[in-house]
Amino acid sequence: MSFLDISLEEKQKALAELRDVKQLFADRGWFAGTSGNLSIRVGDFTPEQFHFAITASGKDKSMQTPEDFLFVDQQGKPAETTRLKPSAETLIHCEIYRLTGCGAIFHVHTVFNNLISEYFWDRKSVPVDGVELIKAFNIWDEEAHIDIPIVSNYADIPRIVPEVTSAFNPQIPGIILRKHGIYAWGANAFEAKRHLEAFEFIFEYVYRWELLKRGG
Ligand SMILES: [Zn+2]
Repeated sequence: MSFLDISLEEKQKALAELRDVKQLFADRGWFAGTSGNLSIRVGDFTPEQFHFAITASGKDKSMQTPEDFLFVDQQGKPAETTRLKPSAETLIHCEIYRLTGCGAIFHVHTVFNNLISEYFWDRKSVPVDGVELIKAFNIWDEEAHIDIPIVSNYADIPRIVPEVTSAFNPQIPGIILRKHGIYAWGANAFEAKRHLEAFEFIFEYVYRWELLKRGG
């Protein structure tokens, strides 16, 4: 499906949803220093061809402007004429869409996702035991154990992509970049938001629990 075959209505719906999520997360302080990026996929999906709307690079995400988003293809290249530049991290969105065919990906930098990624860097994953919110990932076992993958944070984004590919676990809708932030995804914006909120709750919980165990 070419970009021109995707209806205007679907594109506008994606932009409206991105605007709402952007405002909500900005109000929570989740875009410190213009960090973070959000995307929603539009049109049909095959691993070889897809399109998505993504936040433009370097914008203040607490503001709403006509230059906040652009559409890109599966290689992260703009799908139509624009002066806007997709975030450098768009390539990570491309790889997550290619691997999952998901509908939305949200990426934020928070103090807790940074702390937890460094704390558990040696084991390359955050272990989580029996926290109720694991159910947000559709994992319903009592006392479920999950490991949330952590990958390297290189300045050269294309170097991160193969680590995302190998750390990807279809059961866990998120990957953490070391001392950087989390990428969380879902079938649509609603689910991606639910997953992101569950991850952030879990990171704070695990971090505080580790402190308690140390008597801190
Ligand atoms: Zn980032």
